[in-house]
Amino acid sequence: MAQAVKRLYPGVKLAIGPAIEEGFYYDFDSPQPFLEEDLAKVEAEMARIIKDNAKFERSSMNRDEAIKFFEKIGEQYKVELIKDLPDAEVTLYRDGDFIDLCRGPHIDSTGKVKAFKLLSIAGAYWRGDEKNKMLQRIYGTAFESKAELESYVAGLEEAKKRDHRKLGKELELFMIDEKAGAGLVIYQPKGAMIRTVIEDWEKREHLKRGYQIVIGPHMLKSDIWIESGHYGYYKENMYIFKIEEQEYAVKPMNCPAHILIYRSKTRSYKDLPIRYFELGSVYRNEKSGVLHGLLRVRGFTQDDAHIFCLREQVVEEIKGVIDFVRDALKIFGFSEFEIEISTKPDKYIGTDEDWELATNALMDALKSKGLSYKINEKDGAFYGPKIDIKLKDALGRAWQCATIQCDFALPQRFKISYVGQDGKEYAPIMLHRVILGSIERFLGALIEHYGGAFPVWLSPVQAVIIPISDDHKDYAGKVAQALRDKDIRVEIDDKGGRMQHKIRDAEVQKVPYMLVVGGKEAQAESVSVRERGKGDLGAMKLADFMKKIVNEVEEKK
Ligand code: ZN
Repeated sequence: MAQAVKRLYPGVKLAIGPAIEEGFYYDFDSPQPFLEEDLAKVEAEMARIIKDNAKFERSSMNRDEAIKFFEKIGEQYKVELIKDLPDAEVTLYRDGDFIDLCRGPHIDSTGKVKAFKLLSIAGAYWRGDEKNKMLQRIYGTAFESKAELESYVAGLEEAKKRDHRKLGKELELFMIDEKAGAGLVIYQPKGAMIRTVIEDWEKREHLKRGYQIVIGPHMLKSDIWIESGHYGYYKENMYIFKIEEQEYAVKPMNCPAHILIYRSKTRSYKDLPIRYFELGSVYRNEKSGVLHGLLRVRGFTQDDAHIFCLREQVVEEIKGVIDFVRDALKIFGFSEFEIEISTKPDKYIGTDEDWELATNALMDALKSKGLSYKINEKDGAFYGPKIDIKLKDALGRAWQCATIQCDFALPQRFKISYVGQDGKEYAPIMLHRVILGSIERFLGALIEHYGGAFPVWLSPVQAVIIPISDDHKDYAGKVAQALRDKDIRVEIDDKGGRMQHKIRDAEVQKVPYMLVVGGKEAQAESVSVRERGKGDLGAMKLADFMKKIVNEVEEKK
């Protein structure tokens, strides 16, 4: 691609062009911005280069030689790159009229490229630093066969259709209004309904699993954030302000209030484990440039809990959390996930013994559940090791959800303790954990996973009742009330207009069931049922339909 760009636009300077997970990109410094239509030209030139089947030849130069060489051909970005390389020798690859700095390895010749496509153009700062010049990045991808490329591109198209920002608008789930503030989510009735279903499930499920629900305030005095260490380590991410000369901060995390509850009385070893759960809304200062739909926001709600336990209880507690995550993901329709453990970094607090205990506990818990995991060596926070779980959606994309984090710092900072069997005081082990993670991000994942066609139990509107004419409005009202009495969420579409339009509207809104009612149905106390994506199911006694839908909600279908 770089060779093609240089041939077509000789004034362009080359910056950096790595392979990435799903293809490759190259950053160019171009006097004129690239346009979408340039991509086709570049692709055509690439096809010619591939057809030439030029051999890739590797050569090496010492640093000074290489710097001189790239200065001479006017590629100053390469000069900068080489100056920062630790190597005494650098390698270059040439094919025909094109030469580039590259570590290699390479395929033998350009003809080995089988199927490729340029995908998009984006702005990118040189070396990712906004103080540097904005370059232009062209993304592309390549596969061994045309069929593989086509299936990948089809996947991209499908992802675009499922984009939660697009569906969020079309289905009236949520909005983000720049006037109200970037990165701040406003839930419309349907989005708020889904969130309520998720939160109700969360509360019941936590109670079942021995958690206690607590609620902390949205802001706390800075004194608490100084005690917790957030003020020292996390201040630039926090919103800090004054009330009557006293400084406060909006909470970026839920932990301090939970610790204050723990600390509010003397705890004995017999009281542990203690598990405090909160659907806690937090606010973090994200740069406006990184905000993205529901995925990167400034305000979000976590299904957050803190577990205080004895050393000998850690493995069981972690196992319990892992079971919880698995059950939760299954219920919401996700069957695959990835797990990573991050271990002790070079700088850490806490004793080596505790680190070993906690890291082993994380691994043992996963092993005992037969789950495989990847280790991110030395990637843990300075205050403890953690497990991260990413769910995989219908298109195979990974979304961060659960985290289980051991913490040796906060119990120390807040000087919390329990009285042991020997009457002495000990610091409990503290775990922070989320199951779905940020409810906002999880909702984003759900929207894209289902393409907006949520299962019945999650659908904000579960059935639309469509009376055939005004004469049937009364019966439609009766059907609606009967269903609402069973906690089924229904709407009546009795606006004028044609039946076909109403059915189409309900299909577009991805409502699971449409119930058409007219004189025949009123007389027989029945409904004519249409199911989303399946069409006409025929007439059904109202009582039977009620049984069917109530059962589906209960079974989380
Ligand atoms: Zn926490």
